[in-house]
Amino acid sequence: MIQHLLSASDLDATAATLILDTATEMAAMADRDVKKLPTLRGRTVVNLFYEDSTRTRISFEAAAKRLSADVINFSAKGSSVSKGESLKDTALTLQAMGADAVVIRHPASGAPHRLATWIAGSVLNAGDGTHEHPTQALLDAYTLRSRLGEIAGRHVVIVGDVLHSRVARSNVVLLDTLGAKVTLVAPPTLVPVGAGAWPADVSFDLDRVLPDADAVMMLRVQKERMGEAYFPSAREYSRRYGLDGPRMRRLPGHAIVMHPGPMNRGMEITPEVADSARSTIVEQVANGVAVRMAVLYHLLGSVK
Ligand code: ASP
Repeated sequence: MIQHLLSASDLDATAATLILDTATEMAAMADRDVKKLPTLRGRTVVNLFYEDSTRTRISFEAAAKRLSADVINFSAKGSSVSKGESLKDTALTLQAMGADAVVIRHPASGAPHRLATWIAGSVLNAGDGTHEHPTQALLDAYTLRSRLGEIAGRHVVIVGDVLHSRVARSNVVLLDTLGAKVTLVAPPTLVPVGAGAWPADVSFDLDRVLPDADAVMMLRVQKERMGEAYFPSAREYSRRYGLDGPRMRRLPGHAIVMHPGPMNRGMEITPEVADSARSTIVEQVANGVAVRMAVLYHLLGSVK
């Protein structure tokens, strides 16, 4: 198994499937009274978060604790980072403290790759800028597999702010590795330059692609990364690219609706859809713990 998980492209189909299979076993543990395995006893996992997070940080923490690792949570606010300490100096401090794995979220695309050159342990990318978020793609693949069975041959439609979405990038890569077909749907201003070379189709017409989807993944409109106007108004965006009840009913009966969270309810997704039986949003969060346990298990198991 690999030492670091920096990108979804670090995983071939065999490695990704092994992680998903292990996550199935880890999920079975959540039903037990004692939700703990001794696997990572004596190992230290540092959560190094330079950007806000709810789901990812908590679920990495829960995952590491369920494997009996010692967990250190480091947030940039309140640390020497606010005194101007560089990522490299922070990394060397963590190294000196004997971190076996560092889970990093950073606003700069590529920060986890740099970190991996400075420390001896494993580096796990928990979201770097607009670049990648590989464990999100793994938990989405896990959710797809548990709801729809086989991923190969399925059609996944990813909708919205693709330009700023590390979730979309990692999903396109992993879904392609696992044999799914992906269609990106977004306003032309939110389709990244170069997306034509990705293993995905691009469409500007949500209504047309929905009847052929097995899953539709709605992306958050990332206002915090938008310095300028990418669409005329929130209302106009919702009208063309938001998922509401009538639009959801264009999906085939078996199709599911996903969202990585946090949601802008009423913008890219209406409450009716988010809280419907097709929605896997809460399930995705629960699956995140099992998938991250599987990732920690395999990555830390490979560097002793
Ligand atoms: N939580 C995801 C991320 O950190 C998606 C989002 O923020 O919209 O990338």
